[in-house]
Formats: sequence, structure tokens, C-alpha cells
Amino acid sequence: MPSVATIAADLDRFAPRALAAEWDNVGLLLGDPQSEVQRLMTCLTVTRSTAAEAIEAGAQMIVSHHPILFRGAKKLSLNSPDGDIVWPLARAGIAVYSPHTAFDNCAGGINDQIAERLGLIDVRPLRPKRQASFKIVVFTPDADLAKVSDALFQAGAGIIGQYSQCSYRLAGTGTFFGSDSTNPTVGVKGQREVVSEWRLEVVCSAEKLDGALRAMRTAHSYEEPAYDVYPLQPSLVGGGEGRIGRRSQPVKLVQLVEEVEKEFAVAHVPFVGDQAQSVSKIAIACGAAGEFLSDAVRAGADAFFTGEMRYHDLLTAEAKGLAVILPGHHATERLGVERLSERLQTTWPGLTIWPSRRESDPLSFR
Ligand SMILES: [Zn+2]
Repeated sequence: MPSVATIAADLDRFAPRALAAEWDNVGLLLGDPQSEVQRLMTCLTVTRSTAAEAIEAGAQMIVSHHPILFRGAKKLSLNSPDGDIVWPLARAGIAVYSPHTAFDNCAGGINDQIAERLGLIDVRPLRPKRQASFKIVVFTPDADLAKVSDALFQAGAGIIGQYSQCSYRLAGTGTFFGSDSTNPTVGVKGQREVVSEWRLEVVCSAEKLDGALRAMRTAHSYEEPAYDVYPLQPSLVGGGEGRIGRRSQPVKLVQLVEEVEKEFAVAHVPFVGDQAQSVSKIAIACGAAGEFLSDAVRAGADAFFTGEMRYHDLLTAEAKGLAVILPGHHATERLGVERLSERLQTTWPGLTIWPSRRESDPLSFR
């Protein structure tokens, strides 16, 4: 039987945390990584109802799209909103993993699945992910070159795509004049020294920068190593949030809405726009994703598909001539959770895995 940690690692690979929104709280959020899993339930949200289902069904793990403890709980005692859910799960030994926006945005994730259901081609991220990075340039004497470069590589600098330990080295000449209070590693204080040095250059991601500089300073033998850190133009790293694609043939908005009603099993899908307007390019962001409206406009979309949006954002879309299709938060994401259940079952055929049967859209229509 796989452990919670093994399943969490598989989910981390499928929906990498780097794709999650910065404000998000994703990954293994509750439980013992070493405990074994035989029964696993997926759901959109851990509520009292879905938590009770998992406990009654003897699950050891829940994979819930929306994170538990999202707003920073202050207490987990019973009769508190978070406590009523988390405490019974903890007592039953049930772990909770939440992939959330990493699952929205990963290859084969919810937004990709929606693009497939809408029959889109040429699908790409609506908001491509860019990574801030830096160039570290450090000047070392001959004797330090290997030590300093090894330290930088070990701290995670020098990675370009699938290549690691990337650096550029240029031999040159450095000068210095050490005051009376100095203790130069090479040469002597009180006179101008001319020494042969290397200019060593490596790229470094923003999150590794502090560690790389610390490692460089520790490995460098100079009292005051000379180094520069240059910010680089943020680079596209592949992937990103939301999706945009096009239909092979334009379709009337009213037809598209009818398709969405069938495909997402929603009786009446609200929409913004003229029923007869032609739609070819469609932007997608599952859940409550009005924040992507300006990305959709910028990308030249004819229609924006999301779960729910604020009234004033709908007016903005209308004013810009962008159609909006709103099948509801639940409808845009619940199918993804069901697909995730199938995926996990394929990976772990010996386990009992199911999407919550009690979970339903809190919104109803007469
Ligand atoms: Zn959601």
C-alpha cells in the first residue's frame, strides 16, 4: 500500500507547486506522511458533509481541490468552523492534500480539461508564467575558482533549462590597495596589488539568490569578495495560468452556451453578450476567476469562460464586447475532481478511490 507521502509526491509531480498562485496554500495540509493509504476520496471542497463521508467510508486520505485552513485558522476546537471539519478528520487519521491552483494550471489540469470539452485548438496559457532571475558575477583568485563555483552550483545557481552547473569564466586582472586594518589573502596591505583573477558568471533564480550569495561568500577566501548581482528580464518558464484557444470554426454565442449546458450538465448557463455574436477565440479560467478578465481582453478573446464573476466585472466585459459564459464555480471544477479520481485509480489500481458522492452544488435552480 502506498503511503500518504508517496501519493503526495505523485500529485506534486502531476501538479507542480511552481504553477500555483502565489497566494495559494497547496500540497499536503493535514496528516501523517508515513501512514498507509487503502481508501482515498477526492472532492472539490472539504465540508462537514464530505468529511463525514470520508470518515464513514474509512478513507485514509482526501484529495480536495480547495485547500482546508485557507484563511489561517486561529482555533481547531469543535464548534468552530475549521475545527468542526479538521478535528474529526485528524481523529480519524485522515490526511488531506489540496492541489488547487496548481491543478487548475498544470498540463492535463482543470483548465486543459475545459479547453478539451470546448473543442479548442492551439491552446496556450492565458497568463504565461514568468520567472524572475539574476546574474551573479563574482571575481575569484585562481585558487578559489573551483571552490566558489561548486558552492554556487550546490546552492542551485547555474541552471539553464535542463542544464545544470552552467557558468562562464574569463581570466583577467584585479587590483586592490588594502588599508592598515586589512589582512589580504593574496598580496600585502599598504600597496597597490595587481593579481590574476577569474570573472565567474552564473544565472540564479530569485528564490535561490540569497542562499547562493551566502554559499559564495563562505567559499570565497577574500575578506571582501567583489561581486555583482544583475536583475534579468523575467523569462517565460513554460506553463502558466488559465488557457486560451480557438475553435476550428467560429460558432454563435448561443450555440456555444447550449454546448456548455450539455457538456457541463448545467440546466441554464448565464451569459453576457449578443446571442448571435460570433465566437472563435475563447479564454478559460475555472472557478471564481474574474481577475483574468483583463488577460482575456488583452489576448483578443471573443468569449471568457469562468465559473463566477462579480456584477461590475460583467459590465466591464459587456462594455468591451467580450462575451462571458458562467456555468458556475462547482460545474467548472467538479468534473476535474472526478477526472483526478480516475487518474489516481489508474496509478494505484489496488486502492479504492472515488469522487465524493455527497458533494453537490450549493446553488439550485427551480
Ligand atoms: Zn474553485
